[in-house]
Amino acid sequence: MGEQWGFYFDPDSCMGCNACSIACKNRHDTDAGHVDWRRVETVSEGAFPDYEETNISLSCMHCEDAPCEEVCPTGAIEKRESDGIVTIDQDKCIGCGYCGWACPYGAPQYGDDGLMQKCNLCLDKGPGSGADAPSKNEQQANGEALEPACVDECVGDALDAGPVGELLDRASQEAAERFEQNRTNVIIDSTGENSVTGMQGVRQATEDS
Ligand code: SF4
Ligand code: SF4
Repeated sequence: MGEQWGFYFDPDSCMGCNACSIACKNRHDTDAGHVDWRRVETVSEGAFPDYEETNISLSCMHCEDAPCEEVCPTGAIEKRESDGIVTIDQDKCIGCGYCGWACPYGAPQYGDDGLMQKCNLCLDKGPGSGADAPSKNEQQANGEALEPACVDECVGDALDAGPVGELLDRASQEAAERFEQNRTNVIIDSTGENSVTGMQGVRQATEDS
């Protein structure tokens, strides 16, 4: 497979403003009310005065072993060989909803047409699709690749997207900077060896520093 693409998210830089989810809706013209390819959730911990809130911006994680792809009976969901982005071909979707049940993040959602749609990392080929689009690396090389709208509009620079190797480099560097500043709460999106596949608290970089 070509190099896996994915998202990077830094909760320490996220202020929960929702600019990312609104930018996503604007770019893809998703249904105003109920469809959120990207959403911001707030997780709270403790009780006053030791109370903390963390904002988490979530979309499809483009999982390494995508459970949505495994359960789709029509082959509508594909994990692309070229860049690991997981797409939904709406011409093949029958709206059974299995993918929505299988996804731990609630990423695939019904549109008004009764078919599933979700983040396609801004391949810009319709709702959740892009199965036939050139790889992100190829698009970049041709000067065509659109940066995901959520990354473009993030006010706090909390989101990034790209090949996972580059994202891990950024995460390591930021972890080291936090360690120097005594701020050790670092989160990167990664569950696979070479891929961004889920949300996991990772403190390795600071522990190893
Ligand atoms: S986050 Fe959900 S929709 Fe996205 S690849 Fe993983 S299982 Fe599929
Ligand atoms: S709803 Fe569509 S994409 Fe999801 S599993 Fe069923 S056929 Fe596949």
